[in-house]
Amino acid sequence: MADIAANLKSVCDKILYAATKRTSEHQYYEPRLVAVSKLQSTESILSAYKAGQRHFGENYVNELVEKALNPQILEKCKEIQWHFIGNLQRNKVNKILSVPNLYIIESVGNEKLADLLNNSWPKFRKSDNCKLNVMVQVNTSQEEEKNGCDIVEVSTLVKHIINNCHNLKFMGLMTIGMFGYDITNGPNPYFTCLIKCREKISNELAIDIKNIELSMGMSNDYEHAIELGSTNVRVGTAIFGNRPQKNT
Ligand SMILES: *Cc1c(COP(=O)(O)O)cnc(C)c1O
Repeated sequence: MADIAANLKSVCDKILYAATKRTSEHQYYEPRLVAVSKLQSTESILSAYKAGQRHFGENYVNELVEKALNPQILEKCKEIQWHFIGNLQRNKVNKILSVPNLYIIESVGNEKLADLLNNSWPKFRKSDNCKLNVMVQVNTSQEEEKNGCDIVEVSTLVKHIINNCHNLKFMGLMTIGMFGYDITNGPNPYFTCLIKCREKISNELAIDIKNIELSMGMSNDYEHAIELGSTNVRVGTAIFGNRPQKNT
């Protein structure tokens, strides 16, 4: 089994180091590490939590619900913060909103999903006026099989969330990008695309850039993403080792 505590320490150190290489305009925040535990065991999550990790990311609704309700997790990981980062089907919305310690849904890609989350959240929230954190996922690589809204629709979707979805808190933008980009060729174009989207919505909707997070960067490029200004990196393999296959 992977030495999760050692891997986690190494990733955290690299994040801190990468953060020092940012331009001064980006020095106002600490990047957040989301440990992506999809397809990994409950034991792996417990190990990472014990080593100090609090934010965890999952891609599949059923798996997240199962883990979040696991008695050991409930007992030993009281401060866990779950990030949902996968494709969210509309018929699973009630299921996901019932997750204890749900911190954010990073993968909102269209108005219908935003509306459904907005309308359903009051049935699940623990206190009045507590908003559900969301990010808008952008399909920066314009690949058919990737989720997320088109680059040209980001502004409209964000505007819709802010103006019409009063139970949601818009936190920022998320992207995956095309796999396998070689950064010796320069800044990752999918990351720079997300940065441009942020600039555009900041200008068009008069939102301070500092209030729009960027969720980008995974195991093979999180340091690069942080240097470019990522506020939230989603790292799985570098912490937990290779993932078991998903049985379908
Ligand atoms: C699986 C996954 C990750 C983590 O990938 P690694 O390469 O294992 O770090 C990050 N983001 C999303 C959306 C994922 O599906």
